[in-house]
Amino acid sequence: MGSSIALAIRRTAHTRQNFSPPDPPNDRLFEFQSRHPPTADTCDGCPAEWEVKRRVREDKTPQPHYGIIASGNAVIKDGETRERLREAIGALCFEMEAAGLMQDFPYIVIRGICDYADSHKDKQWQGYAALAAASYTKELLRRNPWILV
Ligand SMILES: [Zn+2]
Repeated sequence: MGSSIALAIRRTAHTRQNFSPPDPPNDRLFEFQSRHPPTADTCDGCPAEWEVKRRVREDKTPQPHYGIIASGNAVIKDGETRERLREAIGALCFEMEAAGLMQDFPYIVIRGICDYADSHKDKQWQGYAALAAASYTKELLRRNPWILV
């Protein structure tokens, strides 16, 4: 999956602009109780003490996770709400687009996770996450064409 993502990013100036991953230091996970200042546009002023210390990933390619994607009609951008839902239903992530489909036909949801559903959320990983999800979907269908029948 990693090489197909790299090819898609390199395709044009537009794809490089919109789908390249931000620098890894921009992947900041904050303690769920921390509150992003409401008037701040970026997390540049959010203290390093609020960050969850994590091991640096050696493999930078997107990793698939399999499990519950909570679907609803509101954006989750509160760390405490995220944690409460994670503990209650085991949600790995949250999304808003698939909820309406459930009544109409069988489906699976494939999402690229681009933020931590907390008050610090921003859009800088959206393009790359969307590309990762599209790449995964393409590979899934290539290997399992019977899914479309
Ligand atoms: Zn912040």
